[in-house]
Amino acid sequence: MLILISDAFDASLPGMLKKYGEVTDDKNRLAEAEIVLVRSKTKATKEYIDAAAKMKMIIRGGVGLDTIDVPYAKQKGIQVYNTAAASSIAVAELAFALMLALPNHITLGDSSMRQGKWLKKEMERTELHGKTLGILGIGRIGVEIARRALAFGMKVIAFDPYVKSSPVAEIKPTLKDVLSQSDYISLNMPLTDETRGMLNKTTLAQCKNGAFIVNTGRGKCVIEEDVVETLKSGKLAGYATDVWYSDPPENSPLATAPNVVMLPHIGASTKENLLRIGDIIVELIDEYVKKKK
Ligand code: NAD
Repeated sequence: MLILISDAFDASLPGMLKKYGEVTDDKNRLAEAEIVLVRSKTKATKEYIDAAAKMKMIIRGGVGLDTIDVPYAKQKGIQVYNTAAASSIAVAELAFALMLALPNHITLGDSSMRQGKWLKKEMERTELHGKTLGILGIGRIGVEIARRALAFGMKVIAFDPYVKSSPVAEIKPTLKDVLSQSDYISLNMPLTDETRGMLNKTTLAQCKNGAFIVNTGRGKCVIEEDVVETLKSGKLAGYATDVWYSDPPENSPLATAPNVVMLPHIGASTKENLLRIGDIIVELIDEYVKKKK
């Protein structure tokens, strides 16, 4: 059996999988692979699945399956899995890092100091304590962010049409309720037909003046041009994002917009999380091999 590791996983993974067969990271051997491991870089489209003639199982190391054509894979009898539960703490900590970076001018402070500038007067900070955090999508990651926000003395509200109540957040009935009451907005919903472009000109206009937005969900849940306009108008105080229209982004208007903090999609990439993802992959492959016998 050939296992193809198509994207970046922890370096220990090939060693952990050796007992099940041959392990390769040579993408040219896709046609021979029985099991394929992907993260967000590899897009398992119809063409990709057709090229993987022997594939019986595909595992996405991460949350969501939006990079895999799941109906087509299932139609071809391929088992599709992700490691959804593994990444919550890694992403929540990054969302919090971004939420602290924005009002504390961490990136501007660092880059201006390196240029020999002393912008002490320009860098008035604000505190998270006493502010309202609005979470869009209070699932596994949203809950972990809420817990951390409560520890910082924030009030936590959320919009999630599929969650009725939560021990860590007050659920509001509409998106507008959350946007109009939040000092910080955290995007943690999946990319779906409903959430695509959810933050746009109209909904951004419903935000509080001076709000900060942190996006560790999906890039396409916002219209980037509209975010840039809202930043330029001064209505939004800042936007921090780990997620993009494509990885890496091509000509994103955010790159030259004011008060933007940008990261290269590293939400799930903690050492600890990559090890957790590896453990789940081993369990899934173990089960597959046992059933095959
Ligand atoms: P989850 O499924 O546990 O939670 C998602 C929540 O979003 C659910 O409660 C769901 O009801 C809610 N939701 C669905 N549609 C909605 C809508 N229209 N409006 C508001 N809420 C809605 O998933 P999770 O593990 O918490 O992950 C959330 C998202 O984070 C993933 O779908 C993925 O897009 C993103 N993510 C990013 C990274 C990264 O590297 N930055 C890593 C992992 C996950």
